[in-house]
Amino acid sequence: MARNLEKQDERCAICGCLLNRRKGKYGKQSLLGRAHASKHQYVAERFFGRSGNRKGTRRLRLFEKCPWGLEGEYDVFCYECHEILLHNPVFTRENILVFADLVKQKELNEARKNRSNEKLGRRVQLQHEVIELGLRTLKSKSGCNP
Ligand SMILES: [Zn+2]
Repeated sequence: MARNLEKQDERCAICGCLLNRRKGKYGKQSLLGRAHASKHQYVAERFFGRSGNRKGTRRLRLFEKCPWGLEGEYDVFCYECHEILLHNPVFTRENILVFADLVKQKELNEARKNRSNEKLGRRVQLQHEVIELGLRTLKSKSGCNP
């Protein structure tokens, strides 16, 4: 009897599609590949000095403690929402100019790099603030309750 490796009705946390865990299908240009289950950490492991896909690799630690209290926590998405949507946010030239202005206003700019990565960590937090405010604004415009 074949062992069922799929969780019953496991769905993508963003688009809600029915996920699968069929071996060898991840990322393939097929319905199974596009809907393959994929774990994504809310806050990247690299921010805590680790690499999830390169075990043993040490990176510069950005945060001693997770600013959002989500270190190690994750959700499950389809291949498309994880690899295409979450990993490739679009920033237009104007978006970058406005973000750079905010960075400068908050004195998070760096004329020259030094050994500290504190400003980078604070830029990561600023970027998250932008996303959170954007989500709240769009949600309130759509008439949904927070
Ligand atoms: Zn999805």
